[in-house]
Amino acid sequence: MTNPLTPAVLSDPVELTRVLVDIESVSLHEKDITDCVEQVLRAVPHLRVERLGNTVMARTELGRAQRVVLAGHLDTVPIADNLPARVDGEIMYGCGTSDMKSGVALALQLAVALPEPRYDVTYFFYEAEEIDSVYNGLNLVSKSHPDWLAADFAVLLEPTHGVVEAGCQGTMRVLVSTSGKRAHSARSWRGVNAIHAAAGVLDRLAAYEARQVVIDGCAYREGLNAVRINGGIAGNVIPDRCEIEINYRFAPDRSVEQAEAHLRELFDGYEVTLVDAAPGALPGLGAAPAQEFVAAVGADPIGKLGWTDVSRFAAMGIPALNFGPGDPNVAHAVDERVEIPLIRQGAATLHRWLAT
Ligand SMILES: [Zn+2]
Repeated sequence: MTNPLTPAVLSDPVELTRVLVDIESVSLHEKDITDCVEQVLRAVPHLRVERLGNTVMARTELGRAQRVVLAGHLDTVPIADNLPARVDGEIMYGCGTSDMKSGVALALQLAVALPEPRYDVTYFFYEAEEIDSVYNGLNLVSKSHPDWLAADFAVLLEPTHGVVEAGCQGTMRVLVSTSGKRAHSARSWRGVNAIHAAAGVLDRLAAYEARQVVIDGCAYREGLNAVRINGGIAGNVIPDRCEIEINYRFAPDRSVEQAEAHLRELFDGYEVTLVDAAPGALPGLGAAPAQEFVAAVGADPIGKLGWTDVSRFAAMGIPALNFGPGDPNVAHAVDERVEIPLIRQGAATLHRWLAT
């Protein structure tokens, strides 16, 4: 395939977004787009390039005192009859416009155009963010080649609608179970109804007041919710077991262990089983490159409420934040779109931050 990422395309972040969107790259089908991106990066004399699977890393080696990462995933969710990209006035529509080829375009353009950034920069374009983390290119590289990611600060170009979303909340699922005693429903007094016992769990959930925590000026609003309930055997049997699945979104001042302890205390007297958990990430705005980045954006950061790959950077000891032109509210939607002025603004912001 001829590479559509021509010098003319690479010089304009809006056109570059459109061309990247038109290279279809649903998760696990990122070979074409990665080939194109890798070819572009290998032609740039000031970058050292490495590739693992469909993840490509390019870095400057200028001997600067600090290094920053600009990272973006190349994959998208399945297309929904929303390719090729379509421009209508100041809006570009199409799968991946928001999440997150507009962000990838900002990094790729800079990789080519900025031979001497004020920090050393690692550009990291990775596969399979939208699916199970066993395929996630950032996850894979963090295990097999952590040196590729060594840095003082990272910006993940996920959609944030042009503001800084710092850190992220953690997430946890637990099963809270009640037990009873099976009996024929015609003689229900011989049994103990586990579904009725679940009312006590639901009462605690309904009465729960979720915390709002402010860290480094960023507010993180927690949430504790039942997301599924499972119980019952047959139409004539008193059930002896009921399980309530609960999702806890917790602020990054709590570790996974502390979050679990909090839930065990809250549901004291019930059986609590941890299903899965992922830690949050502190906003990490203390590092000099982070403060300068926030100054370049020129607006106060807000707390990221969802879970994103910034917490993978945080787990490696690298403070990270989210910043991208896409609107997170329309990511994965059939009418996914990005506002073209925000692409231009984002490109200008990164340039202001990194140009010498
Ligand atoms: Zn994304």
